[in-house]
Amino acid sequence: MQVYKFGGASVKDADGVRNVARIVEHYKDQQLVIVVSAMGKTTNLLEELTKAYYNGATVQDYFDKAKQFHNQILEELFEDKSNPIFNDVANFFVEIDWIIEEEPQDTFDYLYDQIVSIGELISSRIIEAYLKKVHIDSLWVDARNYIHTDNNFREGNVDWNKTERSIRSSIPTLLEKNILVTQGFIGSTSENFTTTLGREGSDYSAAIFASCLDAEIVTIWKDVPGVLNADPKWFDATELIPELSYLDAIELTYYGATVIHPKTIKPLQNKGIALAVRSFVDLNNNGTIIRTTNNTLPVSSFIFKVNQVLISILPKDFSFIVEDNFSHIFNVFAKHRLKINMMHNSAVSFSVSVDYDEQNIVSLIKELKKQYDVEFQRDLELVTIRYHNQQTIERVLLNKEVIMQLQDNYTCQMLIRSVEGNRLIE
Ligand code: ASP
Ligand code: MG
Repeated sequence: MQVYKFGGASVKDADGVRNVARIVEHYKDQQLVIVVSAMGKTTNLLEELTKAYYNGATVQDYFDKAKQFHNQILEELFEDKSNPIFNDVANFFVEIDWIIEEEPQDTFDYLYDQIVSIGELISSRIIEAYLKKVHIDSLWVDARNYIHTDNNFREGNVDWNKTERSIRSSIPTLLEKNILVTQGFIGSTSENFTTTLGREGSDYSAAIFASCLDAEIVTIWKDVPGVLNADPKWFDATELIPELSYLDAIELTYYGATVIHPKTIKPLQNKGIALAVRSFVDLNNNGTIIRTTNNTLPVSSFIFKVNQVLISILPKDFSFIVEDNFSHIFNVFAKHRLKINMMHNSAVSFSVSVDYDEQNIVSLIKELKKQYDVEFQRDLELVTIRYHNQQTIERVLLNKEVIMQLQDNYTCQMLIRSVEGNRLIE
């Protein structure tokens, strides 16, 4: 059996849904679990809605926009207005309505998961209904009955034993008769509260299903031809990497290559399940295959992360940064949910680069300042080159100034700033 994952970009409009059906039709003679993300930018929109609701601002605009967006897709896909899908989607919006009618009583993270997960529930329903309409036997499966997590809302940790038991007990039987359509990104706690697995987590869901079902291969269908050696958003002459080892794939995603969610690869590697990354527009192109191979990357790969903040932490009494301080500092970062992208320590300071997230950074710095002096610089970029050489380093440093650089045999990381026009704060 195989697992297909379709991300938000592949189902951003009615044509996207038709294209999913075309791909499934083409490969339907195999047992298939289809994992889908929310349509287009729905997750961002529901995220904004949740923030507004939590902060007591008006949510109606976000709510209407989300409804209109999905209704438009439904109108285009289903001529028969008595198709039950219209009701199903309306009912999912009622669930959001029920939540936002009342004053927020729960934590932000909990509310976030209850609201934002609706995006995936709706998209998977629409896709199932459309597959049925074009006579592909399909069945909607609620991922929350299979993917079990702890109570860590917004970043649920998967209980693998329980998840594997649930998946194995019923999915193989269901697969004998139907193509299954389920949601990426979501799971549930032992008390049946919905959780999410972290942004872009649908790839991870696909890997969880594949691992528990001993799938042959997982295919992530994308709007790019496969894994490229750089994001075309930042680089002109990108090259497709036809084959990639699990290790290189893990390293690239770890440093921020957004083409695959970082948690996806390990479970697949453990079971020797291949991962294909292919274009959903060009079915003649095999894209990238990630599997066991001794080949290293054929070209240097570049990973860019913009909007970085350098935070430097210095002990107030000019004592050395010692282990006690480190464990405290790491705990503070974890508590404020800031992931460290790069770090460096010297005798008297510890510096890290993190994504700029105003809310979390303000609270982090406030807490750190109780014990340390803290300095920070905004508007930096982090570039990682896997299989770097002098030429590739020079290429990215054109008109840039290096703030911090770390390098080993395989990887070079540079925190850089454009030479002109950058602000320095504090
Ligand atoms: N819809 C979720 C997100 O945008 C999960 C995913 O797309 O993988 O983060
Ligand atoms: Mg996505």
